[in-house]
Amino acid sequence: MIPVDETFLSGVGVHRIPTPVPFLEAGGPANAYAIEDQGGGFTLFDCACGTDEGLAALREGLHQRGLTKLNRIVVSHGHVDHYGNAQTLAEESGAQVFVHRHDLEKLTGEHRWSNQLEKRWSYFLKLGVPDDTLHAMLERTRRGRDYARPVDRHRLQLLEEGQALRFAHFEAKVLHAPGHTPGLVCLHVPELKLLFADDHVLAKVSPNPLLDLSLGEGETKFKALVAYCASARRVQALELDCLLPGHGEAFKGHRELLEGLFQFYVARQGRISKRLEAGPATIYELVSAVFSRTDIGRLFLMLSEVLGNVEVLEEQGQVQRLEEGGVMRFRALGVSPRHDTSPAKPPVA
Ligand SMILES: [Zn+2]
Ligand SMILES: [Zn+2]
Repeated sequence: MIPVDETFLSGVGVHRIPTPVPFLEAGGPANAYAIEDQGGGFTLFDCACGTDEGLAALREGLHQRGLTKLNRIVVSHGHVDHYGNAQTLAEESGAQVFVHRHDLEKLTGEHRWSNQLEKRWSYFLKLGVPDDTLHAMLERTRRGRDYARPVDRHRLQLLEEGQALRFAHFEAKVLHAPGHTPGLVCLHVPELKLLFADDHVLAKVSPNPLLDLSLGEGETKFKALVAYCASARRVQALELDCLLPGHGEAFKGHRELLEGLFQFYVARQGRISKRLEAGPATIYELVSAVFSRTDIGRLFLMLSEVLGNVEVLEEQGQVQRLEEGGVMRFRALGVSPRHDTSPAKPPVA
């Protein structure tokens, strides 16, 4: 990862505004990007966490740059630190809110994580998580509900893969990059070799592809890490001089960064395979084999990471799923694993 001098950004009408996030898992302040539009005004690519502090930082950042007329709000993905103020700003300005259809229901509130947990309780029991642990997780996640107001459906517009968005100084293409969430999009500006990468490629933290049941839990289930690796390979192939992340400063060197991340996942998979050689295990049991310490606050991220890696192994034909009595276990199919000795990167929400 190599830092990029951001001074060129104002010349192409791009303004990065870091905004505070009240939870550690985010990996630091969330960036909102104001992008100047043709004919005056600007588009927001992400709009800060919906707390008083998040909104105030965003307003102050816009004010300092003399940006007053909001035309569009484009949401990279359905996490509160990225769309938190969409409803408030849309009400004030009349701007429409653009999002990929696979994350739309996160914005309207239906597929938020706490709702998913309540609705899909049996799935989490299937992963081997004890009932009382699930209750404790639910209790914690409920406290997070005030970080975003649900967005009215009539304010929402759908973003499609390949769609062109015209701005004052360039045209960007929507790049659908499922993984971190099913509907995550990046904005690609080929003429500037620039990618608004949001949480798809982050310099300092691993963009944890999160367990997500919004597309179902059977055949249609979203396999977050399988999807992430495919999306990341797509981005790895792009010629880029600058990536603008969802958290942190502009950087380049995405090819090496992603290569390191792929190796990190391979090592994780080696560690999981090693544990499975001792006998079949649930996802919850594998969590304690992979992480030295588990706690309720980070359990969802840990379950996501382990399930994601197990689904990759399953796709590769290295593990087999066994379902009995409402519990899912995984069995090794006898491929020699690599042992993981690398320290875990902190996950990001
Ligand atoms: Zn984020
Ligand atoms: Zn995110």
